[in-house]
Amino acid sequence: MSELFIDGAWTSPREEQTREIRCPADGSLVAVVAEAGGKDTLEAIAAARRAFDEGPWPHTTGAVRGDLLLRVADLLVRDKDALARAESLDTGKRLVESEYDMDDIANCFRYFGRLAAADDGRVVENGVPDAESQVVHEPVGVCALITPWNYPLLQTAWKVAPALAAGNTFVLKPSELTPHTAIHLVKLLAEAGLPDGVANLVLGAGPEVGGPLAEHPDVDLVSFTGGLNTGRHLMAAAAGTVKKVALELGGKNPNIVFADADFETAVDMALTAVFLHSGQVCSAGARLLVEDSLHDRFVDEVVRRAEQIRLGGPFDEHAQTGPLISAGHLAKVEAYVERGVQEGAVLRCGGSRPAGAEYDNGYYYLPTVLDACTHDMSVVQDESFGPVLTVERFTDETEAVRLANSTIYGLAGAVWTSDEAKARRVASGLRLGTVWINDFHPYVPQAEWGGYKQSGTGRELGPAGLAEYRETKHIWRNTRPVPQGWFA
Ligand code: NAD
Repeated sequence: MSELFIDGAWTSPREEQTREIRCPADGSLVAVVAEAGGKDTLEAIAAARRAFDEGPWPHTTGAVRGDLLLRVADLLVRDKDALARAESLDTGKRLVESEYDMDDIANCFRYFGRLAAADDGRVVENGVPDAESQVVHEPVGVCALITPWNYPLLQTAWKVAPALAAGNTFVLKPSELTPHTAIHLVKLLAEAGLPDGVANLVLGAGPEVGGPLAEHPDVDLVSFTGGLNTGRHLMAAAAGTVKKVALELGGKNPNIVFADADFETAVDMALTAVFLHSGQVCSAGARLLVEDSLHDRFVDEVVRRAEQIRLGGPFDEHAQTGPLISAGHLAKVEAYVERGVQEGAVLRCGGSRPAGAEYDNGYYYLPTVLDACTHDMSVVQDESFGPVLTVERFTDETEAVRLANSTIYGLAGAVWTSDEAKARRVASGLRLGTVWINDFHPYVPQAEWGGYKQSGTGRELGPAGLAEYRETKHIWRNTRPVPQGWFA
């Protein structure tokens, strides 16, 4: 089992531990992979530290780093089919979705490749005679990159590409449930010519492998995507050494539909918003807020169509969405829906596992709609990360914005209306990192992604996504040094 990548070599874990990876769609064994422990993590940190302190990577020009990232983008395109297949086996998601992800991932590397080449250091007009000021950007140092299982390689790319563009070295820890595309990416980085020690990969459980990364004094930055509680824990662990911390956490994303919205499109996208990848999307539109006068007609249609959604494994061409990631997650979603019903929500559809022997070995849950919800219910406040839509009503614009903002999260959301001025007013009132008007889900690498409130700190993608991985240094040069005589 040589799936740890430390200091430019594939190695086995010190303690020879392994983990079985099983496909969530049918429980079949995908592979047995290496499982790192604390000692492996310390070695990976030491390798990344050496590669940063002794170079050459941090001292290469942005253009050289950009070229490497563009080569990686080409290799990702070359290996797209194998990568998409591996992603689908690990996550259970439909192959076509994994294929879309791979295109986005190559684009992400291309975007940061081009950005790396455009060095934005600047000369500052300081207004002081005989003194020059220059502001330059430098890499932060050793980065710990910790990623989740829902979009394994996509979330990895959002960190690896800017970290490398800025000249950092890193230790990557993917989710223990979905390691294969991270292993493949690290092979591509080596093939593209990345110097030894710059990219290090450790596989394993969160507390054992991720924990030391957050605490270690030789790690300068932690970038984490995952759940809120883990994020809180990591932020506290990183405080001891005052690391830079970037957190991309959960969401409970409002999808606001006004009565003047295009009915067909709004219904269609309300379904996509929440049921894509069975709701295991941080920006899932899991909270439908619908204007009173439209409520009955709109929700009836959403329910009618939700009941027709076909579930199936990654290679089932008729499937429209797939399983949940694990038995534990399925149990969590089941308990969440039961709690909603106890709180007074009306179960309109779903609310159980699908019937049929073909689903027995997978972690499937039916698309579920909980109507008559109020904002104080736990099902409205808490992220389910499953195929569960909660429905609330509102009477006017002010109430829609107030309800939408009433959770601790602030990741993303949408507003549907044919009144452009109203759309703009609502968009500006929403405390969210991304607002879609008459759309749901699109993102581009050129625009920042991240959360307000407890959805996170910092941004990924866009120029700010690169800035997370850079230090800023002001260099002042006295061009005519003479004694000042202050203490003469
Ligand atoms: P998670 O928090 O359980 O795990 C995420 C990663 O952290 C995994 O690699 C895990 O092994 C590691 N980890 C767990 N405990 C740790 C610890 N004590 N110390 C260090 N590392 C630890 O999250 P998950 O279940 O993998 O992912 C789902 C969550 O991710 C959802 O809440 C979702 O909203 C969020 N997410 C957010 C975004 C975003 O862009 N904001 C994107 C994708 C997923």
